[in-house]
Amino acid sequence: MRVAGERHTNTTGEPRSERREATDLLGLDALFSDEELAVREEIRSFVEERIKPNLREWWEGAIFPRELVPEMAARGLLGMHLEGYGCAGKSSVEYGLACMELEAGDSGLRTFVSVQGSLAMSAIHKFGSEEQKQEWLSRMAKGEAIGCFGLTEPEAGSDPSSMQTFAHRDGSDWVLNGQKRWIGMGTIANVAVVWAQTDDGIRGFLVPTETPGFSAKDITPKLSMRISVPFSCLSEARYGIIWGSMGAARDSYEAALEYAGGREQFGKPVAGFQLTQQKLVNMVLEIEKGTLLALHVGRMKDEGTVRPEHISAGKLNNVREAIEIAREARTILGGNGITLDHSPLRHANNLESVLTYEGTSEVHTLILGQALTGIPAFR
Ligand SMILES: Cc1cc2nc3c(=O)[nH]c(=O)nc-3n(C[C@H](O)[C@H](O)[C@H](O)COP(=O)(O)OP(=O)(O)OC[C@H]3O[C@@H](n4cnc5c(N)ncnc54)[C@H](O)[C@@H]3O)c2cc1C
Repeated sequence: MRVAGERHTNTTGEPRSERREATDLLGLDALFSDEELAVREEIRSFVEERIKPNLREWWEGAIFPRELVPEMAARGLLGMHLEGYGCAGKSSVEYGLACMELEAGDSGLRTFVSVQGSLAMSAIHKFGSEEQKQEWLSRMAKGEAIGCFGLTEPEAGSDPSSMQTFAHRDGSDWVLNGQKRWIGMGTIANVAVVWAQTDDGIRGFLVPTETPGFSAKDITPKLSMRISVPFSCLSEARYGIIWGSMGAARDSYEAALEYAGGREQFGKPVAGFQLTQQKLVNMVLEIEKGTLLALHVGRMKDEGTVRPEHISAGKLNNVREAIEIAREARTILGGNGITLDHSPLRHANNLESVLTYEGTSEVHTLILGQALTGIPAFR
């Protein structure tokens, strides 16, 4: 089935998908429609066939696989939840399931889909002029043009209101001055959504990256998110992370379950030891709870009743549980767990970035604290 790199068959040689029921402990698949499950299966096969066989090379080389962009576009992944302009117009739950499968592969690929669709395309779709939508959205949905989303600055991260980038009018033009930092896809993007202070508050600007004065350079070396190049838009991207993080957690758990079934110590599989079983049980319970949380937020989003604090609850809970699951899964693999032969540590490293971007855990805790008490405690 596959040559080098991570193992994707269990000790009996059967493809890992057959062990999937060991993850769906509560039979959550029954909560999804056939259409939703069909979207999941399509992206799951894409990840198994086109992404997992190459992860080792891409991670070691800190390579973002540009050649995959048209294949992602062909599966409707770019701007998947948007209507019109060549976008797939899928539901929030279908988009969530796609994010879960992409991140079971690697957070870097889900991050690309989040930046392209949930951040850059969503901003243009929501706030762009019809001319801007016509010029960019269908090309971005086809993967012919790549976007990025410039909010964070070297001195303004969790507190974007303190950004220094300033835009002033010059006749019919706007002149932007400033610096952004950690902008995903910044060095390969064709268009940037740049947020800047103006005399009338913070505004978003659509900047084709060939515009004179625009420059970008990679941040290297990164120990996390190596297969990637750096509100309401923010809620869109944060929503995809609620599902994606559970994908990374599930893949880590399945790697540990598979390994524990075949690794023998003291004359029996380590899966037969109570402490290993306790770890596996704790992992699968959090994956099932996190998936139920993601599904509930997704249903609310499709019904139009979701609020930012619901998204914050999902991002806060699911990312912190996912990173704990990936770390715990690594322990079941012992020393072998620190190599790229197995996925948990790569997921744990990636999830360090996911824990910080799209609002840190502290920021989401404060959003929820304000929702509960009515008192903002950010300052
Ligand atoms: C891989 C990656 C990709 C990214 N992609 C993008 C992108 O495409 N576009 C973009 O605009 N940004 C992007 N970011 C930036 C990301 O959104 C910021 O890193 C994040 O908002 C945190 O800001 P900061 O790193 O400046 O940390 P700071 O804001 O300096 O925070 C440092 C610490 O202080 C804590 N803290 C801050 N304020 C408070 C408070 N009031 N109370 C308690 N604790 C607090 C934080 O939680 C954190 O623990 C990316 C970041 C990474 C790592």
